[in-house]
Amino acid sequence: MLECRKIVPARSVLTSRTVSIEPHPITNASYFTFKKFKFKTKVFQILFCNLERVFLYFQIHKMAAHLKYGNGMPNKTRLSRESIRDLAQKAIAARKRAIAPYSNFYVGAALITRDGRIYEAGNIESSSYGLTICAERVALFKALSDGETEFSAIAIAAGTQDFCSPCGACRQVLWDYAPDIEVILVNQVEEIQTYSLKELLPNAFDKKLL
Ligand SMILES: [Zn+2]
Repeated sequence: MLECRKIVPARSVLTSRTVSIEPHPITNASYFTFKKFKFKTKVFQILFCNLERVFLYFQIHKMAAHLKYGNGMPNKTRLSRESIRDLAQKAIAARKRAIAPYSNFYVGAALITRDGRIYEAGNIESSSYGLTICAERVALFKALSDGETEFSAIAIAAGTQDFCSPCGACRQVLWDYAPDIEVILVNQVEEIQTYSLKELLPNAFDKKLL
């Protein structure tokens, strides 16, 4: 007599099939998405847990900069480092243009317009000292007389260890014609400090008050 047997797969085979349809940990995209999510969560966790340290780091950085630059904190500049260096070098060269037979205090200025034209000048003295004109004003007047109206920065170089900041008259005239200008100071050893004119002349008098 023919014997009928029901063939039932072994349990172990079923188990192995169940395992085989699970996503592969390397090739499945959702695995990467999950890992990415975990990574982002971890980054946020680290960031938020260390906010105090990050804040402290910026405070220390600010204090160090203050110690290095004194009251003249460097302003965030719109010019590249190379452009500042280049303008500083032109201001140093412009000291040779100075006519200062009375004080022998030679100052050079290099003014750059928004479209990149550069005007160089030195201070020009008069025997009637009050008529002397500083280098930065000579450079500005040269540019204005050429029809220039938009200015980016002015570099001022003097042969002193301290940075030679523009006098009150120059700050006022610069404010009248270039209130957004950046002022770059260069000392004897070619160190550089940068300021916005707003920093050098707060609460300025101008045509709005006339
Ligand atoms: Zn001046």
